Formats: sequence, structure tokens, C-alpha cells
Amino acid sequence: MRRIVWVLLALAVGVIVASALALRSRAVQDALVSRIARRRIGRNTSALLAPDALRVLLCGTSSPIPSRERAEACTAVFAGGHLWIVDTGPGSWRTLALRRVRGEAVGAVFLTHFHSDHIGELGEFNLQTWAAGRPGPLRVYGPAGVTDVVRGFTQAYADDTRFRIAHHGAALLPPERSTMAAMPVVLEGADAARILDEDGVVVTAFAVAHDPVKPAFGYRFDYGGRSVVVSGDTRPCPNLVTQARGADVLVHEAQANALVRIMEEAARDTGESRVAKILGDIPSYHSDPADVAREAVTAGVRLLVLTHFTPPPDNEVLRRIFRRDVEAVPPHGLVLGEDGTLVVLPTGSDVVQVSRLDP
Ligand SMILES: [Zn+2]
Ligand SMILES: [Zn+2]
Repeated sequence: MRRIVWVLLALAVGVIVASALALRSRAVQDALVSRIARRRIGRNTSALLAPDALRVLLCGTSSPIPSRERAEACTAVFAGGHLWIVDTGPGSWRTLALRRVRGEAVGAVFLTHFHSDHIGELGEFNLQTWAAGRPGPLRVYGPAGVTDVVRGFTQAYADDTRFRIAHHGAALLPPERSTMAAMPVVLEGADAARILDEDGVVVTAFAVAHDPVKPAFGYRFDYGGRSVVVSGDTRPCPNLVTQARGADVLVHEAQANALVRIMEEAARDTGESRVAKILGDIPSYHSDPADVAREAVTAGVRLLVLTHFTPPPDNEVLRRIFRRDVEAVPPHGLVLGEDGTLVVLPTGSDVVQVSRLDP
């Protein structure tokens, strides 16, 4: 018996030593990388663009409070053969690129408002989707100031665009496709406006309450009888409940005010008065999960997905605090979103599938 153990042990050691030696070989290294490269580069997510469903992929679920696991505000909606992006928070392109999302299929970007955690990566979205083969300029919808935001990012990336054309050639990177087209949305006193109707996809912009940020929008997407509403940043807001009525999914920002209060006290006790002041200010323009759940139930949505977390619930205790005051939830429940959370709504059905798309 002891002899068998020794033989097995010697074999195991032999395998480990042989593998370590093999990994020192250039040929073995190259062969391994070649295999992985074929698998990774050849992999893509065209299936997300199939016309048989409305799909929602969270590409950034944090607020300006940083998280190791999350990018800042970004929600991707796949419908009508296109990819529609709501907000381009810092780090969010990376979330999509790691999952090999087809950037060239981007239909438009919709900015909810101009806080940095929602617009920081607009230049990268434009550059990367152009490099991926986008067939024309990138449309960017948003409140009236979107023209300035687009102009600023265009200016900041002007040299980058020029260098890349010079290096890869205008045939691969046509200069006329490198631009962004600002699409200002003005509600003119209305609560909502239909801003896009294309390939079966209808997008409605609506006003939310994020004062002093005015205007601030949420967006509703309707496709094939299915619908998703993205809140943007807002405190509890009757107009959001109206616009979300009957939607399949509500993707809503969430700020656990109990946690913010604890963090504010901690900041004050440790002499971080600037941090304490900011933490004391933010409850006035975000929504506590208990309020969001109440609104979701009132609106009659089927599934509530929380995102834009303040603070990011990256451990079990925080996740419990986010849920602890929630009384009732929609019929398909409440999901604490993560980067990569995927919701699939097949057209012509009432099915709601929630899963995760990992890198
Ligand atoms: Zn904001
Ligand atoms: Zn925000």
C-alpha cells in the first residue's frame, strides 16, 4: 500500500516537473498562446444581437465610489440588430470589450446627464466602435448640453484619430465615420418624448429628478412587445413610475442611505470633513432601494435590477443591507446587478431570463 502511494507521488512530481520544463520551451509557450488566441479572438457575442429577444447587459454598475469589480454607469440594450448604450461611465468599455461585444453594431449612445460617472468614457466608445468597423458617425443623444460634451471629447481625441488613420490607413478607418453626431433632446415642458423609432426599436426619453442636475433623463426601450426602462440618476420620481408602467424590466440606480449615513459618521470621526460633507449631500438626489422597490411594484414592472450602487455591494454584509428594508418586490424579483448581468426577454413571450455573461 505504502509502495503504491510512493509511486503515485513520484508520478505526480514527475508530471509537475515535466510541465514546468515544458513551459520553458518557446515552442510550447507559442503553441499554448496560439490555442488561447484562436479561442478568444474567434469568440464573439453576435448571438446577443439576434432579433428574437430584447437583451440587457450591465456594463457598469458602480457610482463614483470605486469598486474593484465594477465600472461606472453603463447599460447596454441589444435590440433590432443593434447595441444601444445608456451612459458611458469610466471603465465601462472594458466591461464590454472583455466580453467581446460587437462594437460595430452600436446604434447610438444615450446620455442620461453629464455627471462624470456617466460620460467619462464617451471618447473611448466612439474610438473603439469606429475601429471595430462602425458604418457611420456615432449618434449621441442627451440633454441640450450634449453638443458641448461631444465637441469636447472630439477635440480631446482629435490627434488620436489622426494618428490611427495615418497608421492603419483610411480604407480601414474612414475618417468620415470617426465622428460623433450630437442629438440634443429637448422635452419642452413635456414629461417624455419619443426620440427614436428604428428597426422595430422605440426609445423614449423622460425627465427624472436629479436636481440641481437639470434636465436629467431616463430612457425606455420598447422592442417586439418587450420593454426595459433605465432610470439614470434620480431621487424617487413620480414621472419615472408613469414611464415605467408595465415595463418588463426596470434598471434603476440604488443608494443605501443607511450605509451612506454610517460612512458619513466614519468620515467625520476620522477628520475627513470634505468626504463627510459630500456624503451628507448625496441622499437628496439618489434613491434608496426600499423606495425603488416600492416604485417598481407601483409601476407594475416584472423585474427590478439595481445598478449604480452607492456604495458598491461587494460583500455579503453590504448586499444584505441593500435588501433589508425592501418590503415587496416585482413578480420576477429584485436583482442586485453586477457587471455582466444579462437579462433576456424573448419577443412574443413573457419570459424573463437572468444570467451572467462572464469575460
Ligand atoms: Zn448624477
Ligand atoms: Zn451617477
